Amino acid sequence: MTILFWIPAFAGMTIIKYMKIDLHTHSTYSDGTLDPAKLMEKAHSLGITHIALCDHDSTEGLQQARAKALELTLTLVPAVEINTETNNIHVLGYYVDENDINFINALKKNRDSRERRIEVILGKLSELGIQITKEELREGNRETSLGRPHVADALMRKKIVSTRQEAFEKFLTKGRPAYAPHNDTTAIGAIETILACKGIPVLAHPGFSQQEETIQWLTSKGLQGIEVHYPTHSTQQIKKFSELAVKYNLVVTGGSDYHGPGSGHEAMGTISAPENTLDELLKRKQKLFS
Ligand code: AMP
Ligand code: ZN
Ligand code: FE
Ligand code: FE
Repeated sequence: MTILFWIPAFAGMTIIKYMKIDLHTHSTYSDGTLDPAKLMEKAHSLGITHIALCDHDSTEGLQQARAKALELTLTLVPAVEINTETNNIHVLGYYVDENDINFINALKKNRDSRERRIEVILGKLSELGIQITKEELREGNRETSLGRPHVADALMRKKIVSTRQEAFEKFLTKGRPAYAPHNDTTAIGAIETILACKGIPVLAHPGFSQQEETIQWLTSKGLQGIEVHYPTHSTQQIKKFSELAVKYNLVVTGGSDYHGPGSGHEAMGTISAPENTLDELLKRKQKLFS
């Protein structure tokens, strides 16, 4: 969805202000394949005007993203995505305070837990005769927040699979031989972590199995928004989640969940959040924290 609106300009002239808002992307600071600067360039080339970088359990890429966004006059929203073990719920946090020491520590704890999980996964692969080291997964970015897609990429480099999707289907998804459960982050814990640093918690991609009862429950725990617009959501799902947003007074957001070239999650440019989304998120921030 592209939003165009007219604003009055000099002496009777009008100019078009154009907004294309993608509030869900990942960089090499988690499991994206583009570094933050390249991600901003890609977004700019696709006509995106407002973008959130939501690396998994990390805000480490924001500084680089911000510098490039400034150069390109892109508006960058500082954000994060926290995956949890509760019902496979992922929580996005917008306008988080990346300098809040408790927030920094909470994310670091989650990343440490991710490392331990990856070690279990690599152990299982080793038992299957596939040797991969944790260092190989980092590909030079020592700061990266490790996840299963990094294992998938290593399996691709070894020509054991040809896509991330195939690696998940053969090895990494629940029920497959190298699966290991996530850390002990809960959905409520994720919401609390985000609220504690004055961020706005939003339920990511509810189309992946989230029911009304879950949305109602999360809202009672402080959830403020729902990612209605998402590449895999059907028209019916968009309608259903839009109605639930009204019913539970949640901000409607949207994003592509872009993970970069070769990731299989490459729909940047095809999705835009509604034009009032950032205003609505900022209003929540003001209401909750000032
Ligand atoms: P993790 O954070 O380690 O649990 O890995 C979850 C991430 O893996 C998600 O955020 C997606 O980026 C990616 N992912 C999940 N399922 C698949 C799949 N079937 N194919 C490719 N990537 C996937
Ligand atoms: Zn991801
Ligand atoms: Fe997610
Ligand atoms: Fe994501």
